[in-house]
Amino acid sequence: MSTSLEQELQANQCWKLKANNSRPRFDEVLLRNEFLAAPEQRLQKTQGLRHLLQHCYDIVPYYRELFQREKISRRHLRDASILARIPILEKAAIEQHTDALQTRQLWPGHKQAGSTQTSGTTGQPTIIQHSDYSLGMFRWLKQREYRWFRFDPRRTMLSIRPAAELPRMPDGSYIPEQTYLKLAAWPTLGGLFETGAAWAFNNTNLIGDQVITVNQIKPAYLVTQSSNLEFLSLQKFAPDALQHLEGVLAISHTLTPAMRSLVENNLQIPVQQNYGLNEIGLIASRCPEGGRYHVHAEHCVVEIVKPDGSACAPGETGKLLVTALNNPVMPLLRYDADDLAEAVEGPCSCGRTLPSFGAVQGRYRRIAYLPEGTWQRWAAIQMALYEIAARQKSAVRKYQAYQDQQGHFSLRIDCEEAVFAGVASEVRKAYEQAFATLQHPNLEILHTDQFLGEGGRKFQNFISEFTPEPDR
Ligand SMILES: [Zn+2]
Repeated sequence: MSTSLEQELQANQCWKLKANNSRPRFDEVLLRNEFLAAPEQRLQKTQGLRHLLQHCYDIVPYYRELFQREKISRRHLRDASILARIPILEKAAIEQHTDALQTRQLWPGHKQAGSTQTSGTTGQPTIIQHSDYSLGMFRWLKQREYRWFRFDPRRTMLSIRPAAELPRMPDGSYIPEQTYLKLAAWPTLGGLFETGAAWAFNNTNLIGDQVITVNQIKPAYLVTQSSNLEFLSLQKFAPDALQHLEGVLAISHTLTPAMRSLVENNLQIPVQQNYGLNEIGLIASRCPEGGRYHVHAEHCVVEIVKPDGSACAPGETGKLLVTALNNPVMPLLRYDADDLAEAVEGPCSCGRTLPSFGAVQGRYRRIAYLPEGTWQRWAAIQMALYEIAARQKSAVRKYQAYQDQQGHFSLRIDCEEAVFAGVASEVRKAYEQAFATLQHPNLEILHTDQFLGEGGRKFQNFISEFTPEPDR
């Protein structure tokens, strides 16, 4: 499947700016950038990088010192390939050099405008200071991805997320359990574009209450965490609520191919995805036509690299590094996102010329420390559950795997009593066939509606004692 500049301009027509003060409209500037010829794409990247790197060289203490140490002079910064010579920036280095990474001298028109934070390596949050432009890009890039997803802004949206990520109640408190908050417009975009109404509901509500909310509100679009989405899709909904639902955006957690198939099969709508970091903003959005992630090249440069920092060949999976182009306040160059993704070759089949990468395989640290075979066995379990759900809708309501310090698995499954024995035997068979070259750790299968970590901020369908670091 493909699209074109004309088709995208057509699709953008339902987006009405509230105050038409941006000329040319920035959403259309972004739209046209998607179809630039390759040499123009390269030129934009070179110019954006040079501007940022020279700024780092001139006035950001951390990089002044680093460039000196690496014998990189100012004239080297004219060529975009210099990026590969800059050492990878780990999260621990940001914590250590927070002051030296910041500057008070900004670009004309930029103002210091606040901060974002993310979980640090020591349990303390890492704070990233931003310029207004850096933070402001988020809503424009959000609109771009919603256009790609063909979300119609005149329709309604329901967000089921952690309370801390949702708008507050009128008195400033978090939205209480079993309460949904109606908003006059879609989150993030409401200030910029005319949109329909939206609702917000905590993801810590019981799955049954989430179903009731979807049935009552009948939203056109649903935004929720991947693991929550998977469990939601296993529930029974009112037929008219399902009919109204046209699109869903899975956020935050890794969505495996098996989870994607399960949700799309159960809900009969496409699942959209994006890739972002609190530290930088929206980095890429998954192409509905081509299935790869298109990088928002106006906002960042993404590299997929081997452990030594050199570029992966197409088809190889490597560390995902991000260079943020719009934040002169606290520039992050080649920031290690702690994720693995696949490098891809050539342009996407959709016709857009933005750079792209393939499947995101999840947190590097999560996978790297797992005993050999774990990921393959977990994938086999998920695939078996997917096949069961595809045959027999609503048979499995929820599941969760836990791996103890010896590598043994226990799998919790919530399903009807009558089907449990069959489900368990099918899952066990798949588990034993996966990664058969090593002896299998024990697999215990429990029939229960009690899950680990519930009531916490995020439900996780896979918990391992080998990965003590929590997910962001
Ligand atoms: Zn594409």
